[in-house]
Amino acid sequence: MQKFIYADNSATTALSETAFNAMLPYLKSEYGNASSLYSLGSSAKSAIEEARKTVAKCLNATPREIYFTAGGSESDNWAIKGYAKAMLKKGKNHIISSKFEHHAVLHTLNALEKEGFEVTLLDVHSNGLVRPEELKNAIKETTGLVTIMYANNEIGTIQPIKEIGKICKENNIVFHTDAVQAVGNVEINVADSNIDMLSLSGHKFHGPKGVGALYVRKGIVLPPLIDGGAQEFGRRAGTENTAGIVGMAAALSEATATIETRAKKSKEICNYIIENCLKIERSRLNGDRENRLPGNVNMCFEGIEGESLLLMLDAKGICASSGSACTSGSLDPSHVLLSIGLPHEVAHGSLRLSFSDENTLDDAKYICEVLPPIVKRLRDMSPLWDRIKNQEN
Ligand SMILES: *Cc1c(COP(=O)(O)O)cnc(C)c1O
Repeated sequence: MQKFIYADNSATTALSETAFNAMLPYLKSEYGNASSLYSLGSSAKSAIEEARKTVAKCLNATPREIYFTAGGSESDNWAIKGYAKAMLKKGKNHIISSKFEHHAVLHTLNALEKEGFEVTLLDVHSNGLVRPEELKNAIKETTGLVTIMYANNEIGTIQPIKEIGKICKENNIVFHTDAVQAVGNVEINVADSNIDMLSLSGHKFHGPKGVGALYVRKGIVLPPLIDGGAQEFGRRAGTENTAGIVGMAAALSEATATIETRAKKSKEICNYIIENCLKIERSRLNGDRENRLPGNVNMCFEGIEGESLLLMLDAKGICASSGSACTSGSLDPSHVLLSIGLPHEVAHGSLRLSFSDENTLDDAKYICEVLPPIVKRLRDMSPLWDRIKNQEN
């Protein structure tokens, strides 16, 4: 039988059984509008408020600080565009971020630049980490917002969030973090880390797609991105996605309770791959060896195209990614890999494997069995590889 290995959990995850079962009633009998006054409505309303408590608890926030949205991209857009608008009233128009943010952040910042905001993107060093010193140096009188991702979606590196939060607090700057990859995989404590706003998305931790949340610290002025009804304390209009919200909370609660055991298992899988697949000549691991998501391995193999590699892995039943899902389809190499200093031709030969609880060490063994011959076959056909070998001689 053909093997099937899903190793693209940074792109999306399978819905957990727990989340699925929690959602079912709200997809069928409990269809009331949470704003309605009869009991069918109030049952939806109380399910949403329970979910809000659960999400708050997982982040060490209060329920009143959690706003449900339609996913990570909306949360990022809202936090950044909303706060940018608010900070103008305080005479601030400068935003600091990093070069390897998700496009939901980078493209939002591009849009704000066109409106006259000033944006500084910090360098990401070869280990895939920003340096707190450089953040300090980039701060000006006019800086009102810092937005730096918690963990990168391609190379999995975990940023020095606590240090960043401390610097922002000392300088009276609001700190937003896109924690879409981190939530459910690493312990998060918004209070300890001085995080003012945090984006998360259900489908990255075995919840449903199209639902997310934004944590907004009490006291932060954040005008709505979506105007309309009075849902979400008047800050995010639209009839609530009750089933989605309930499913996301169930998935988050499950993920948070099992962070340690899952991390241990994922690390074993990743270590096996790092030890074995990096025996391939002219290969490298991208991103810091230690400060990374437990389930992420990102490697480059010189002389090949990531896209061809993905197709050949697919033929062997392995789902993986090269760059992010959002950039596949375009021929540009990943902005993340370029940001850590890889040359274009090396960045093209990248492979991201991202594992979850559903993967096993056997998956890693199978991957390490099929990958070297595939890389060899692609290199045998590659004029680029010829050139690399000729330069060696
Ligand atoms: C997936 C992802 C997003 C986008 O979230 P959606 O819910 O798919 O809109 C944003 N940021 C990061 C880091 C992500 O991995």
